[in-house]
Amino acid sequence: MKDENRAFESSVKTKVSRAPLSRSRFADPSHSPNPMKTSQHSIPSRQAFTRLELIVVLCTLALLTAVAWPVLASNKPRADRIACVNNLRQIGKAFNSWASDHGDWNPWLISTSAGGNQDYPNGAGSLIRVEVWFQFSWVSNELGSPKVLADPGDTNGRPGPLQVATSWDEYPSGGFLNGAYGNNAVSYFIGLHAVFARPQSLLCGDRNVPITAKNALCVTTIPCDAISAGPGTVVPLSIGWTNAVHGENGNLLSNDGQVRQVGSAGLRKALDSDATDGAPHHFLFPF
Ligand SMILES: [Zn+2]
Ligand SMILES: [Zn+2]
Repeated sequence: MKDENRAFESSVKTKVSRAPLSRSRFADPSHSPNPMKTSQHSIPSRQAFTRLELIVVLCTLALLTAVAWPVLASNKPRADRIACVNNLRQIGKAFNSWASDHGDWNPWLISTSAGGNQDYPNGAGSLIRVEVWFQFSWVSNELGSPKVLADPGDTNGRPGPLQVATSWDEYPSGGFLNGAYGNNAVSYFIGLHAVFARPQSLLCGDRNVPITAKNALCVTTIPCDAISAGPGTVVPLSIGWTNAVHGENGNLLSNDGQVRQVGSAGLRKALDSDATDGAPHHFLFPF
């Protein structure tokens, strides 16, 4: 009986003490004394399982990518709209801050002696004040970076690709005042009749608004693009967002700093409520 026990104990010890040996064979397959058939078989089967696991993981990843891709892709327009709203908020703060230092006027409405550009001399044969980039550059200190003038959703229907400017200098790489940038770096219109007395008047917004009159005359002395929906007239149904930027939607910034995301009906309403304030819809566009 004791002998049997001892024999059993020794066989257990042997098994236990062999365990590290069998592990060492993973590192060195050529090490071969004391062959344990079961252990040897476990090596190829373990490798096969690993390969199977790898295939499962790869298939799962492929499936997840296939499922998630359309979701990620469809989130892009939404992300663009949010980025655009943030841009407009910043632009609103910039003009508001500038105006609060200049009698609550926007730069194009007051003279150079008062800090504005109403009587700014023409650039080489051209009326530089009609350029939307010029008006934005007037509040460059308040804007911080010209990046806020570029809307990530603004990818269609421009004369050339949107060029995101990164500084306010004239350097060819990202300088807003360089000829390659300027209006090419701007996604937004400026509303010339945005004034403090009319908080809802449109100061800025997505550029994809159809204009109905080019070179309209304006009391601001800037020839501008107009939307014919003046005081007392109903905004025609033909006026709506084009689908160039955020589908047939867009974002509007009013002079009080409010940003609204609206469809075409909302755009007509914004133009209408503005019309009730008596403001003509005279805008400067990047092109
Ligand atoms: Zn936008
Ligand atoms: Zn006007």
